[in-house]
Amino acid sequence: MADDEKTKLRIKNHGKVQTLEISRRDFIKAGALAVGGGILSSSLASGKLVFGAPLPGKYVDQEVDGCCQFCQVRCTTKVQVKNGRVVNVYGNPDNFWTRGAMCPKGKSMVELTYSPHRILHPLLRDGDTWKRISYSAALDMVANRILRVKKEFPDNYAHRVVMFAPLWESRESELAAQMALHLAGFPDICSPGDACIGSSATALRLCLGSSVSPTTLDEILNAELVVLFGANITEMYPVYTRWLVLAREKGVRIAYLDPRITPTSNFCDFQLKLRPGTDGALVLGLIRFLVKEMLYDRDYVASHVNGFEELVQAAEPYTPKRVAKITWVPEDKFLSLARDFGKSKRTIAWIGGSISRYTNSMQTVRLIVGLQAITRNLSGTGKGIMNVQGGKPGGGEKFYEVYRHPDLAHKLSFRKVLYNMKKGRVDVLLLNSSYRRYPDANRVKKAISNVDFVIYRGFFMDEEAQLADLIIPATMVYESEGSQYGAQRQVVWRNRAVPRPGETVEDWRFYSDLGRKITGGAFPAVKRAGHIYEAFRKEAPTWKGITLERLKKSPTGITWPYPSLDEPEKRGSLYPNNQFLTPSGKVELRIPALGPITWKEPKGSPKANAKKSVEFPLIFSQGKVTWHWQHTYTNWSFYIGQFSKGNYVLVHPQTIEGLDMKDGDLVYLETKIGKIKARLNLSKAILPGVIWTPSHPAPATPIPGNSGETVNTIVPYYWDKVSAQFNGFGCRLRKVDGATP
Ligand code: SF4
Repeated sequence: MADDEKTKLRIKNHGKVQTLEISRRDFIKAGALAVGGGILSSSLASGKLVFGAPLPGKYVDQEVDGCCQFCQVRCTTKVQVKNGRVVNVYGNPDNFWTRGAMCPKGKSMVELTYSPHRILHPLLRDGDTWKRISYSAALDMVANRILRVKKEFPDNYAHRVVMFAPLWESRESELAAQMALHLAGFPDICSPGDACIGSSATALRLCLGSSVSPTTLDEILNAELVVLFGANITEMYPVYTRWLVLAREKGVRIAYLDPRITPTSNFCDFQLKLRPGTDGALVLGLIRFLVKEMLYDRDYVASHVNGFEELVQAAEPYTPKRVAKITWVPEDKFLSLARDFGKSKRTIAWIGGSISRYTNSMQTVRLIVGLQAITRNLSGTGKGIMNVQGGKPGGGEKFYEVYRHPDLAHKLSFRKVLYNMKKGRVDVLLLNSSYRRYPDANRVKKAISNVDFVIYRGFFMDEEAQLADLIIPATMVYESEGSQYGAQRQVVWRNRAVPRPGETVEDWRFYSDLGRKITGGAFPAVKRAGHIYEAFRKEAPTWKGITLERLKKSPTGITWPYPSLDEPEKRGSLYPNNQFLTPSGKVELRIPALGPITWKEPKGSPKANAKKSVEFPLIFSQGKVTWHWQHTYTNWSFYIGQFSKGNYVLVHPQTIEGLDMKDGDLVYLETKIGKIKARLNLSKAILPGVIWTPSHPAPATPIPGNSGETVNTIVPYYWDKVSAQFNGFGCRLRKVDGATP
């Protein structure tokens, strides 16, 4: 084939075929850059090609600044547009945190945007079928149903309209939804944090005064020791792996606590494979060791820490022997980490999302704060704590006060909302996110079926759409503008790259339209997402320096807080002078809401109950894989489906010794509330006695590889005070043909 011979890419979308011609030379150049950069990318809907680089200018009309909506790395991007359609996306090379890298999830957005499975017009349930209606008719229907609730229940309407909130595609969408419902007098917006990092974010807030990460990623280059508490960086946030490499090149030691060998293991100095849910016990052991060896900072403790005595008392029983028994980490390995900790002058604790997936997670995070506090590692260069998902920048209190009904009732917890739904006391549910994200997902599904009117805001005919009475389809990120925040406390802005298809509508626009109709005119006139951003900034002193103009020019985003236009941006410690944001200004370990300082087994742990350990002797764990984001979105990508394997269960060969099972067998993964089928994947990567299964498979997707049974249907309904538990309880394996273990 001659160099100038053209390769034709055929892109099919909603019945139309677009052909993009690309020369062999350009094709090879783009492909080589992609592979050389180690970045996989979307395949322009064919699922066969790999691009990781910009398309040459002649194939592009326009390049628009964007950002990925999936994870909190929040990669900023360049979106390439030809003839009004997105033809490629690549990472913005000027982004300080990512240096232009992206992961396959972000790249899959091009294909997802033009998926033939996308819903492009509002659909009203009509018996077993759907009837297409206009956006304005759908909007009126929702508004009228909500207003009817207020009319029928004038004295107690507050908890009869509820929203399951998503991980919003923009901050303005989140704000518009909150403004609309709160101004109308409905407080119950169930946050995604209920099934995510709510517990660790809450514990950080109670101990230090803010729920966001106390430091930023660049500080790991200044540390001596970084401890990853279940933070599976390379698999979950592959773009951050570069920082682990840079840190090790500078001589930083990286310790990794995880029951599984994962891609992250390759970038660490050593790993302790501990039993799921026992991080807190290990931390108590470290605290005991450091106090006994006088390797803590007495002056700092005296001046900056409340609750040190209780911490020492709680740690006293955690001898190395006891720690080894609870955590399954051999005593010598535990002591080696303890000595490393004692020697290090600058240590960063990086908390993974998995820490939040247990009923003991708030205790664990308080203990990690205590560990960092007594070693004077909470504030300053090369010190601090990072929360993988970062947490939401604060400072919006005044804004929330302005845009609320004067008599707004207190928000109910998710469990109370679910109880109300079960009892038929909820009339309208704005279902913006997956019910499958909650434990005992079938219980949640059943409760939703008791709601009179369910409106789904999504993209595909997935499990949630099938529960709805009305579907009002949402835009994808290239079709909407707005800001988002990331794990480094950074705020980024995304411009709209292409028009909205069909009658899809952005979340910020839908909730602004709805707000105008249900708040009697109290909702302000909003024409652009930027209007909401500026309204928020006006009321939020710590956002004053993050102007829209600056934001739009920044390839990295701007770090919050940024209270003055005249000051430089501040990365690194949120508490630079050990001035914490608690009422006392000190680190608070003595927190009545959390009870005494302690560590307890996760609920349902077979190690806590002899009877359970006979019935369900194995320890359950689940998690994300590099390819997938939650249970929705990416399950509809053919490109992603190439790398997925449906339901499988990772098991150590010792775990099935003596059982009639072998690698590749179809088995039941059973818990006390149900079972799913999964392929047995034998591997020494996981601790004996522990199983791991991927969270993402979804029943409704037509894409092989992505489809499978919903894992959370077998996760028992255990909660701490803030969020749900997903790991650490008992389970067992049984061969599908009936063989009994
Ligand atoms: S999912 Fe996260 S790491 Fe991947 S492209 Fe999006 S923001 Fe970047």
